[in-house]
Amino acid sequence: MSDNHLPTAELQALDAAHHMHPFTDGNELAKKGARIITKAKGVWLTDSEGEEILDAMAGLWCVNVGYGREELADVAARQMKQLPYYNTFFQTSHVPAIMLAKKLAEIAPGDLNHVFFNGSGSDSNDTNLRMVRHYWELKGQPERFNVISRWNGYHGSTMGGGSLGGMKGIHAQGGLPIPGIHHIDQPDWWSEGGDLSAEEFGLKRAQELEAKILELGPETVAAFIAEPVQGAGGVIVPPETYWPEINRIIEKYGILLIVDEVITGFGRTGNWFGSETMGITPDIMTCAKGITSGYIPLGASIVSDEIASVINGSEFAHGYTYAGHPVACAVALENIRLLEEEGIVEHASKEIAPYLKEKWEALVDHPMVGEAKIVGLMGSIALTPNKATRAKFKAPGGTVGYICRERCFANNLVMRHVGDRMIISPPLTITKAEVDILIERARKSLDEALERIEAEGLNV
Ligand SMILES: *Cc1c(COP(=O)(O)O)cnc(C)c1O
Repeated sequence: MSDNHLPTAELQALDAAHHMHPFTDGNELAKKGARIITKAKGVWLTDSEGEEILDAMAGLWCVNVGYGREELADVAARQMKQLPYYNTFFQTSHVPAIMLAKKLAEIAPGDLNHVFFNGSGSDSNDTNLRMVRHYWELKGQPERFNVISRWNGYHGSTMGGGSLGGMKGIHAQGGLPIPGIHHIDQPDWWSEGGDLSAEEFGLKRAQELEAKILELGPETVAAFIAEPVQGAGGVIVPPETYWPEINRIIEKYGILLIVDEVITGFGRTGNWFGSETMGITPDIMTCAKGITSGYIPLGASIVSDEIASVINGSEFAHGYTYAGHPVACAVALENIRLLEEEGIVEHASKEIAPYLKEKWEALVDHPMVGEAKIVGLMGSIALTPNKATRAKFKAPGGTVGYICRERCFANNLVMRHVGDRMIISPPLTITKAEVDILIERARKSLDEALERIEAEGLNV
């Protein structure tokens, strides 16, 4: 079906004429033309010219089981034939939503036993924002309205999600952040650690949460939201001192903890959830992406017994038409079955992650690579002209990262850049042989990027 398409140039022209791309400079893309992906299998994408590309990003961090799993397509087709849609608003329910909620309650840590379904990560965080404020209203503490989050965190791009996130480029457009959201600094030691050791710095950045709570007044704070490991911010793995100190502060002031597991959930960090990897106890967990391996959109807010018991006490005036969509829930259930029964999470964690870690960390021998960070199957490298001083390039941040990304793309490797960090998050099903190809192409691309950077004098 997808092999029989218009020539690439015509598709690109139509794309430019009618299709508006997210997070893209439309005119710039129109000039060079989008790369058109026509099919995929395992970790491999095929484009409209027949080139095979190693997808080291699993799409947008989501295709955890890899591409081309017919089981997921079959389940979707069967569900569409049996019950393609029904809502869960008006005292009705259906089997896929019930069974998926039960399954999520089983695999989610602690007392996270209740699921509110959404359509994406962004609108899950909008749900969470309204839910934590409403929770405190019901508890007779309506003044707990403030939510604290972090600069350079990512929680989506809706009004709520974009406000909770700390991306200045998002805040600059459309009147964000909305009221009652406050940001503290991120635990990015490489860029912002100065003379402190990583451990000292982690502690210091965690203590900013306490300072912010005291500044706002502890009785006005509803919740803190964070990703266990920042994803879109550049795969920032926090120093080991960070989360224990955050835990202490959350407990001391009795505020709610929303853990955004949209990337870190479903095996990405070596456990089922990043909360387990980082030793965190969420009151609410945000899920999307890997919940269906990206085969179909679905988001979920998984909440604690305590929150559910309060929210369930009256009508929560919130919900989306596609909440708990039967086809999406059926696909998620099958996806989780594959992750579990084929031991994909365990294999990725025990076999692939250590192998990838060794090769990834060895990239620091490249002249342009400062630190290499990796947890489970999400990793980043920091590009720098001087490793000892952690210096920045003589060009606006992201210039060198972009050059490197372009070289990767030309070498048929999808590796993203965030500023001057390069990031990977491959399907959990990547093999050791494919890891070798990933690293080989990454090195080649780094070499080519360095050549160009030297030619342009950006590294002095
Ligand atoms: C992608 C992402 C989101 C937003 O999810 P969408 O499905 O794109 O709306 C939220 N939080 C994190 C941590 C993400 O990576």
